[in-house]
Amino acid sequence: MIHPSPHIFEQTPETLSAWCAERGWPKFRAKQVFDWVYAKGVADPHAMSNLKPAEREQLAAEMNFLSGDTVAHQMATDGTQKLLIEWRDSGVANRESTGTSLPIVGGKGDTSRQTECVMIPAESEEGAERKTACVSSQVGCPVGCRFCASGIGGLDGNLSTGRIVEQVWRLARLPNVGRISNVVFMGMGEPLSNFKAVTDAVRRMAAPTDQGGLGISARKITISTVGLPQAIERLAEEMELPVTLALSLHAPNDDIRRDLIPWANYTTIQDLLAACSKWFSKTGREITLEYIMLGGINDQKQHAEELAQVARTLRANVNLIRYNEVAGMPFSRPRTEDVRAFQEILREQRVNVHIRASRGRDIAAACGQLRHEKAQA
Ligand code: SF4
Repeated sequence: MIHPSPHIFEQTPETLSAWCAERGWPKFRAKQVFDWVYAKGVADPHAMSNLKPAEREQLAAEMNFLSGDTVAHQMATDGTQKLLIEWRDSGVANRESTGTSLPIVGGKGDTSRQTECVMIPAESEEGAERKTACVSSQVGCPVGCRFCASGIGGLDGNLSTGRIVEQVWRLARLPNVGRISNVVFMGMGEPLSNFKAVTDAVRRMAAPTDQGGLGISARKITISTVGLPQAIERLAEEMELPVTLALSLHAPNDDIRRDLIPWANYTTIQDLLAACSKWFSKTGREITLEYIMLGGINDQKQHAEELAQVARTLRANVNLIRYNEVAGMPFSRPRTEDVRAFQEILREQRVNVHIRASRGRDIAAACGQLRHEKAQA
């Protein structure tokens, strides 16, 4: 069952004003409530002292503020922080909810209500302090990538817009954070299979704080997809904000891709290239290719040559990510010399390539690991 009350983190100025007007409240109440939530960081209606006591009561009873509980909070030695949130009711798991006709790999459980989100501190190339929120879009994941802990057990539900935004709001309130500068949809779930909730969440994140938003630049919000060609085209058509698109390629050819990513059986790299080139023509924005390097599987020189071809066709940047091992999964972290040689081949082919720093390894920051470990305990 989806929670019946509207969620504050999905309200626009228009919807919250209408909600207040329906209750006979003065017009400026919506602005005051937004000010408490987004500027002052207060999500308890009872603490909103410039509202009348009866209004505070009504707000608490009829509007959802925080709809999950933090069941674990971990801090890594490099400052990365991870939250495991348990939502107060389950999502809806059915095939339609994936937004595609693709089957849910691993089944639909409705057994877990937990998702993870991570705050990763870093310095940008220009030396500015960057605080990146990595958020989940679904409970579990329907894609079932063989190397990923999030897909174990299939899909348990979709997160609503409010719950996606709530993750960023919570991360901003952790010790030593203050302000989130970047958001990546790289936590649990395939964002484009929860299309409406994710795109609406982006709109709320990018809205100014006095307009019911988090005030994060849309260019600093990255939607990362495993590759749904139709959904990529839809995003190019429907998303009016200049978000960044990342494609989780993870393999240089269809054979390896299908071994690693079950949903790759329903599409080809050629299909993805066609969708990505439509994205580029429509938006003018380059795509980033994400490539998880798995020791002995996709980290050899011939794989780098193949990947370079794909990247050059797309004029895409490549991020190489060294795999973080997950207990019970038959994949290993690649050797440092293999990663360097791989990067060098891409560079020689004039591909803009970075090795993504591994963050939070001591708290198992790869998506789904904490939830998986808790479930095993
Ligand atoms: Fe889902 Fe992403 Fe994990 Fe694949 S890597 S199972 S798409 S969360």
